[in-house]
Amino acid sequence: MAKYSSKINKIRTFALSLVFLGFITMYVGIFFRSSILLMSVFMILGVLSIMLSTAVYVWIGMLSTKAVKVICPNCEQPTKILGRVDMCMHCREPLTLDKDLEGKEFNESYNRKAANKN
Ligand SMILES: [Zn+2]
Repeated sequence: MAKYSSKINKIRTFALSLVFLGFITMYVGIFFRSSILLMSVFMILGVLSIMLSTAVYVWIGMLSTKAVKVICPNCEQPTKILGRVDMCMHCREPLTLDKDLEGKEFNESYNRKAANKN
């Protein structure tokens, strides 16, 4: 169970790691300051990585508006469901909007099946 996390949280983690990757790349570039070309390449890669993370953050914002807001039945905090099954952001309680799946074991593959139907 613990290996699953809410989709929005997963994407947020991805965006955050891109920011770190960008800074590390730029930091590595400093070691190549003897070569303007190499340093520029690292700087550009770093900036691109940070720009990409900004784009991902914008994407999260758009996903959040599409996600369904619910009150988690387990911890009674507001959370968001993305797709057919998702997980509570606070307590990792599996949540579903599909009555057919209620009570079934949490399985991320339900999302893929739902996508194939569309
Ligand atoms: Zn919860």
